[in-house]
Formats: sequence, structure tokens, C-alpha cells
Amino acid sequence: MAGKEKPENGKLKVGFYNVTGCAGCLLSVIYTEGDFLEFSQQVDIVSFPFIKEKNDDEQELDVAFIEGVVVTKADEETVKKIRERSKMVVALGACAHLGNIPALAKMKKSEDLEYLKYKKEDFNMDREGGPAPLHTLIKIDYTLPGCPPDRDEIRQFMKYLLLGKTFRNYNDPVCVECKLRNNGCLLDQGKICLGPIIAGGCKAVCPSGGLKCYGCRGFVQGIDKEFDGYFRIMEDKGFSLDDVKRALETFMAIDAHKVLDEKFAQYQLNRKAREESYE
Ligand code: SF4
Ligand code: SF4
Ligand code: SF4
Repeated sequence: MAGKEKPENGKLKVGFYNVTGCAGCLLSVIYTEGDFLEFSQQVDIVSFPFIKEKNDDEQELDVAFIEGVVVTKADEETVKKIRERSKMVVALGACAHLGNIPALAKMKKSEDLEYLKYKKEDFNMDREGGPAPLHTLIKIDYTLPGCPPDRDEIRQFMKYLLLGKTFRNYNDPVCVECKLRNNGCLLDQGKICLGPIIAGGCKAVCPSGGLKCYGCRGFVQGIDKEFDGYFRIMEDKGFSLDDVKRALETFMAIDAHKVLDEKFAQYQLNRKAREESYE
């Protein structure tokens, strides 16, 4: 296993699961095509909706991939049970990692969301506390971020898993890949973009197509000091804290306000200290 010892005999037992999600992450795994075929021949896939008629939801697992955000009581029970019987759990995609669009429900009044709900008895957003990304409920060993996750990153993860190597996510900002593609910067065109604070690994696909980065891969890890520079640029370009929050809400509704309020308060303190030092 990635970073752990492979079982002495037999193949790794691997399960793919989804709670509340659109199935796009699981499809991205399948869309790695030949690489998934090779992977599936070298491991024992005990569960995978779409490709297995019978899925085993009881076996002990070496690796469990989970797509989706926890929205219902049943989702919560499902992910906790998977964690109990798995040596390694991988959060697959932005819903599992960050909460993504379902987590926007946390910011709305429940009566305003009634019209959006499936009118099915077995599906309701009945979990107390609202939508929750996986890491808030269970231990996560690895994350494959993105909406959907990048296929090349999935390919690389599967290879590392088979080699028993520790996988590390790409952790430079989206701007790095954007610049490598010689894109003009959206900020210079008066458009907001979250690229400087969001982890790349997606080949800057959105800005390369003229769209802002909305942050589907989460914050760059360990960039506390960089927020200061980011807010400075945003203010120079005429964007407010609320503009940044609105951009970040799409994928990170749970963290957008809390994290940005905290970082912005620190930025204001730093700015005041800088101004005082010039006096
Ligand atoms: S992360 Fe995106 S692709 Fe994956 S389940 Fe959620 S909405 Fe679908
Ligand atoms: S367009 Fe966005 S990702 Fe690209 S360089 Fe500008 S801020 Fe960074
Ligand atoms: S550019 Fe931003 S929003 Fe687009 S895929 Fe990359 S991280 Fe996600």
C-alpha cells in the first residue's frame, strides 16, 4: 500500500463507494481507461458501483475510496462503517474533501432549499449539523482533490498504491501551472481568481479556458503567510473580502467564511503594523 506494507499473500482488497455525490469522481477513475484496467487486474476490487453487479459491503478492506459528502444519517453510518473495516481511506474528489456544492446548504435557510430536494422517502438531508466533508467525521489517509479529480493524479495514485509508495499531492498554487501555460492573468483583466491560494495539479484548466479558479482543489497547504500577499493583490485590483468569499463559497462553503475572516483579520493587523512602521 502507499506508504505501508503490502499484504504478504494475495492482492490488495479495494472498494470504491459513494455517498451523496454525482458519481463524476467514480467515472473519472473508470476514465483512466487502460490504467484502471491494469489496476483492476492487480488488485481485488470488492466493490465498485457501475462495474460490479454484486458489491461486497462487509469485507475487510486494504483501501477504500469514498466519493461524496455526508448529507444524510445513512451517509454518516456508511462512511463510519467503511472506516472501521478499512486500513486506508481515500477521500475521492471535492465533495468528500471539502463539502462542495451540497455544503452550500449550510449557508441557507432549510425552507429555502425545499424545492431542491429529491422527493424520495429514502433521501433527505436529515443529518444533524448539515453536510459534512469526510475528514470531519473519519480519519482520512489520502485525498484526491478536485471536481472531478484529475485523471493523471488518479493514475499516479493507483501506481503508487501498487508499488507501496507514499503519495504526495501537488501543492504549488494553480498560478504556477497557469504561468507555465503562458496564460494571461485574469486579475489583470479585472476578473477575480483564487489561483494564488488554491493547490494546483489540475493543469490550471479553468484559467486556461478563461474561467476563474473557484478553488475546487482546496487551499495550498502551509500557505498561511501567502494570504497576506493575496489580500493585498485583491485590494489593489479593487476586490473586497466579500468578493473573495463569494468565489470560494462554491466549493468551500464550510471553510470560506471561517478561514477567510481569520486570515483577513490577520492581514489587517499586519497592514496596520506596516503603516505604523512607515510613520
Ligand atoms: S466532486 Fe464533483 S465530480 Fe465528484 S461527486 Fe462531487 S460534484 Fe461530482
Ligand atoms: S489567472 Fe488565476 S491562476 Fe492564472 S496566474 Fe492569474 S491568478 Fe493565477
Ligand atoms: S483551476 Fe481551480 S477550480 Fe479549476 S480545476 Fe483547478 S483548482 Fe479546480
